[in-house]
Amino acid sequence: MNLSTFARVRLTQAPTALEFLPNLTRLLEGPNLYIKRDDNTGLALGGNKTRKLEFLIGDALAQGATHIVTQGATQSNHVRQTIAAANKFALKSTVLLEERVTGAHADYYSNGNVLLDQIFGATIETRPSGLDMNNELVAVAERLRNAGEKPYLIPGGGSNAIGALGYVVSAQEIIAQSNDLGLRVDHVVHATGSTGTQAGLVVGFQGSNSHIPVLGISVRAPKERQEENVRKLARQTWDLLGIRGELPPDSVAANSDYVGGGYGVPTEGMIEAVQLLARHEGILLDPVYSGKGFAGLLDLIRKGYFRKGENIVFVHTGGAVGLFGYRSVLAPQAAF
Ligand SMILES: *Cc1c(COP(=O)(O)O)cnc(C)c1O
Repeated sequence: MNLSTFARVRLTQAPTALEFLPNLTRLLEGPNLYIKRDDNTGLALGGNKTRKLEFLIGDALAQGATHIVTQGATQSNHVRQTIAAANKFALKSTVLLEERVTGAHADYYSNGNVLLDQIFGATIETRPSGLDMNNELVAVAERLRNAGEKPYLIPGGGSNAIGALGYVVSAQEIIAQSNDLGLRVDHVVHATGSTGTQAGLVVGFQGSNSHIPVLGISVRAPKERQEENVRKLARQTWDLLGIRGELPPDSVAANSDYVGGGYGVPTEGMIEAVQLLARHEGILLDPVYSGKGFAGLLDLIRKGYFRKGENIVFVHTGGAVGLFGYRSVLAPQAAF
């Protein structure tokens, strides 16, 4: 695997920390819990999209692009990080926010990531849910091309094979850090959505023969569909890197038991997870992704899915900015 042959810019303060969670490990009396702090990637309040954007913006610049076009849900962390990355390299950006979550509190549509998108200063357009958002991106790109721009399209979540390379890098970091610590990692667990994170991690672990199993806790799609989507992107990433042999099909595993009412819809488990990690370890999760991912991890620990003595690494993919869009759920009583 040779990542140095790909166009890349530097956006991430890497390596991000790999930390032990002593209080939660003791409290739960289960496996040893570690956390990979990809919430602290360093760009625009951090998160997992920053790693993908190193390769995506690198590719955009190599192609002579002038304008980044991407899309996401209203509270998209991907959109926020993409605008900031584009700004850093003097690229313009147009972003489409899909009203995927309806009926939420006013904060959801104006605070958190939406506020930061406005400060970062992209051209923001909204779309109702139910459209093919990739078609919408293509139409916007066409409009920009007619206006003399050179648009570069980044799919939702930055999840194509180029973006997934960022998570091959994260897997390599986890391998190096666990070697330094003398830590045998038995499982990696994280929240999975548009699939680039999981595809990159799986390719990173399988392609380096370390074979650390990855479990994606889905925030949207049912298990079979999520696994199929991750496997498809993992194979494309595997091929892009020119790794020999086949990606083992059973290296892709997702659990969709913690989605609740749907993408971005709060669950009791999410609220508990956000409070537990904040109150015992001083770490902020987010309401849409890492909160549900950690809720899944907590439930699986309580059900005995992981054994005592095993070492689990939860990849914290960021998103705490989204908390400000969910104040009515997380702090329904005003403090003052
Ligand atoms: C996008 C995102 C994820 C999911 O990552 P994918 O690569 O889209 O599967 C998880 N957590 C946070 C905070 C995110 O913003």
